Amino acid sequence: MTKDLYDIGELPPLGVVPARMHASVIRPERYGPPEQGFAMEVVDVPSLGPGQILVWVMAAGINYNNVWASLGYPYDVVAARQKQGEPEDFHIGGSEGSGIVWAVGEGVTTVSVGDEVIVTGCVWDESATDIRMGADPMTSSTQKAWGYETNYGSFAQFARVTEYQCHPKPANLSWEEAACFLLTGATAYRQLTGWAPHTVEPGDPVLIWGGAGGLGSMAIQITRIRGGIPIAVVSDDERGKFCLELGAEGYINRKEFDHWGRLPDISDGAAMGKWMKGVRAFGTKFWEILGERKAPKIVLEHSGQSTIPTSMYLCDTAGMVVICGGTTGYNADVDLRFLWMRQKRLQGSHFASTKQCRQVIALAGSKKLDPCLSWVGGFEETGHAHQLMHENKHPSGNMAVRVNAPAA
Ligand code: NAP
Repeated sequence: MTKDLYDIGELPPLGVVPARMHASVIRPERYGPPEQGFAMEVVDVPSLGPGQILVWVMAAGINYNNVWASLGYPYDVVAARQKQGEPEDFHIGGSEGSGIVWAVGEGVTTVSVGDEVIVTGCVWDESATDIRMGADPMTSSTQKAWGYETNYGSFAQFARVTEYQCHPKPANLSWEEAACFLLTGATAYRQLTGWAPHTVEPGDPVLIWGGAGGLGSMAIQITRIRGGIPIAVVSDDERGKFCLELGAEGYINRKEFDHWGRLPDISDGAAMGKWMKGVRAFGTKFWEILGERKAPKIVLEHSGQSTIPTSMYLCDTAGMVVICGGTTGYNADVDLRFLWMRQKRLQGSHFASTKQCRQVIALAGSKKLDPCLSWVGGFEETGHAHQLMHENKHPSGNMAVRVNAPAA
């Protein structure tokens, strides 16, 4: 006898899809800090269109984008979707996860019911003109962050994905490990390898903001794998130690400096002088760690408004600041003199292509890349995990929640 709803962790017969499911849901009336924004609810299991797949989610990774979804800032995810004609008045987030293929829609050929998969976090329309004209799907006008800009992400018993989001799960990874690293790992990988000629090559110094965070922990390892020299920025020595263990050449404690935030007015000589003193001291610290007076060829950015002026100043002549987020704000200042006179590149980067995802999974599958799973919570702790991240109190590395996976 099949049931309408299965308890969390209770396994339906393979391929049997119940009508309802448990999910950790965000609703506009709860928008606010994650502890308030997320709540466990029972909702309908979504139906499948052509090319789509239902995945029985074993574990889901925690990422910053659903901190933003819970806050309803800078983008109201539910209102945006309703504007495009979607009826749901709730958001099920979760942009990565691991699980078992449970049902496949019309036309799916590359995965079958029962396959163990890792799912990636972006979707696009494969029939879009720009893709058919040869664009990287990540740059398509149809590209969306799955489980952020779309509904039915991994914070539910069943996630709805498109076929190309599924990748075979390496056997050496637990469900939780497989769920936690791909979003940050593939994003960092694209930042460090995807923007030729600014790719990490042997001997290249790389400055990595938030070295102990999700992106940072992946970036340190990827830089080392490619022969580069990663230097991390952190906010305390415990996080610094974690970066050293991952392979960082050294770390800079950002709390020892105070020149953060937007640039002073260029005409305010005293304020500008104070800022220059701060940023030069930061640069000197970088040289000390590196052992020579060489600037970073690549600066891996995501902290945004507070740190961009430093990143742009410190980056080597003809180097690149590559940015995928703006945790501290989006209204960043760039002193254009440094940009053009020293011919630097400020490059936006967003998640990763299917190939880049597959390459990062291969690194983890061959044990060259540690997923850095640092915290595992129960499904009902999804909001709490995002709250820790919101307050920058989360442990170093990547976090996951168990959805249907049993506690170890
Ligand atoms: P995370 O695990 O929270 O790590 C971020 C790190 O930033 C923290 O560990 C923290 O390290 C550092 N940080 C916090 N406040 C800072 C400040 N004022 N100045 C400098 N550093 C600061 O988050 P994550 O997963 O790495 O994500 C980071 C950002 O990238 C988020 O905004 C996220 O939305 C974005 N992102 C974008 C994509 C994309 O595809 N576009 C993908 C992944 C992430 P310390 O306090 O130790 O310095």
